Amino acid sequence: MKTTVEVFEGDITTLNVDAIVNAANKSLLGGGGVDGAIHRAAGHQLLEECRTLGGCETGQAKLTRGYKLPAKYIIHTVGPVWYGGNKNEDKLLSNCYKNSLELAMNHKVKSIAFPSISTGAYGFPFERAAKIAVKVVQDFLEENKTIKKVVFVCFGKDAFEVYKNLLPL
Ligand code: ADP
Repeated sequence: MKTTVEVFEGDITTLNVDAIVNAANKSLLGGGGVDGAIHRAAGHQLLEECRTLGGCETGQAKLTRGYKLPAKYIIHTVGPVWYGGNKNEDKLLSNCYKNSLELAMNHKVKSIAFPSISTGAYGFPFERAAKIAVKVVQDFLEENKTIKKVVFVCFGKDAFEVYKNLLPL
């Protein structure tokens, strides 16, 4: 089966994929933006499971069930806060994508959707982040064959256009 990489404009919580990725904060106890939307849509049991995880370091990822979401799993990763580019932000952001994909693979995930990690409250420049996201996914899919579909979820037309211009891989 061929691997597909898609761009979707809309709300990540609606997607019927095996796993969606959450741009969480280190506490893993919920927040604004996509994190808030995921917690609202998944229901309070998600917070209960998150409380047992002991937080998460920047660039790392942890997995929970999806609860009321169509997705079976949620992979919570913590993106870097943008401090201007000299604080290892690029590397930490690629670690988010890499570690999320690896965790997904270990749980036999075949389809996964990513939001644009760090580009909201954390202030990472959008296009720079999108290039990193696409590159890491491309490299990963060349090496590993278990994940068959990756969706980049964009909030808004401008974000959608940026990803569209970077694809197809
Ligand atoms: P961070 O703190 O990592 O910057 P944010 O949630 O503030 O995370 O923003 C990350 C990206 O997610 C932004 O591009 C934002 O527009 C987008 N976003 C916010 N809500 C949703 C949603 N429901 N589905 C998909 N993307 C979303």
